[in-house]
Amino acid sequence: MSLLEVRDLRVAFNTPDGVLEAVRGLSFDVDRGSTLAIVGESGSGKSVATQTITGLTTGARVTGSARFDGTELIGASPEVLRGIRGARIGMIFQDPLSSLHPYYKVGWQIVEMIRAHDRGVSTDAARRRAAELLAVVGIPHAQSRIDDYPHQFSGGMRQRVMIAMAMALDPVLLIADEPTTALDVTVQAQVLSVMRRLQEEFGTAIILITHDLGVVAEMSDEVVVMYAGAAMERAPRRTLFYANHHPYTEGLLGSLPAQGGVRARLTPILGVPPSLIDLPQGCPFAPRCPYAFDRCRSETPPLRRVFDDPDHDSACWLPTVLSEREALRSARAQGDLERIQAGAAEPLSRPTTEGASMTADEVSP
Ligand code: SF4
Repeated sequence: MSLLEVRDLRVAFNTPDGVLEAVRGLSFDVDRGSTLAIVGESGSGKSVATQTITGLTTGARVTGSARFDGTELIGASPEVLRGIRGARIGMIFQDPLSSLHPYYKVGWQIVEMIRAHDRGVSTDAARRRAAELLAVVGIPHAQSRIDDYPHQFSGGMRQRVMIAMAMALDPVLLIADEPTTALDVTVQAQVLSVMRRLQEEFGTAIILITHDLGVVAEMSDEVVVMYAGAAMERAPRRTLFYANHHPYTEGLLGSLPAQGGVRARLTPILGVPPSLIDLPQGCPFAPRCPYAFDRCRSETPPLRRVFDDPDHDSACWLPTVLSEREALRSARAQGDLERIQAGAAEPLSRPTTEGASMTADEVSP
């Protein structure tokens, strides 16, 4: 059994303009000691999903299930969620200043955090633990810096303090929401290495929420790509980078800066994400998708197994056979996609969701 099993999670908000469907049927598992990256653009629902699981979303209509180590979190009482948050699920956010109180010394805040969950721990013992934790995350002179205020730390050091605080109660799961977005590249690498070291040492599972595929490549075991509130693709990290299926994933990777000068120019994903109040019919990515055809605009593709790989799912109508998907990819690269889709070249056969075969003529308008 996985540590966290999320099934068909749906989160909706009533707004003056209508119902905003922030998360639409999200499912994923997180295994003990592993890292799941949830990646997507701003507004894709990745943060709302994890905040909902930990009971931090207010005023939302929530359905579905999130079983954490045998306890159902959706619909759990505030007491149960308070007991789990911090103690069993640690959290790190993008901006440490919004989580650290500016008026209190960082050591005092870590001590309070420890004692709030266990009054049996003396203040002295909690203080010793706080100093230990600051040293573990690489704060120099931790013993004296424990009495510094948040503003006396640099951005990277504040993020380390947040990690120390999140790890204070030895959580089995750490949710890190854009933990390095506000940091420059070298400090980002240091913070990620601290997280990795802690994970190795304590066996903590991590959910890493990010829009940065560089961070995903560095840290994750498995990846869920979200778009418009739903999962578009789910795969182990290497599969996602080297044998992805969904055009949105392909677009995200195409927007990455050149690695070692291999790619000459960036290829941005044209257009903007749809409104979550007024989603287009069919595939939500269709208005921006270079592969879109008629069916995409009328039927919503379900998340289904692709490339015969039980660990790889994609919500896309493109061929599920690797060679056929690759043929479309190279046709697009050569500017031949429209011709193939129009059936001018050799027809491509592909299985439909029902397993029947479909030709390129059926794919095309
Ligand atoms: Fe593109 Fe169609 Fe796949 Fe959506 S279903 S990602 S529009 S090819």
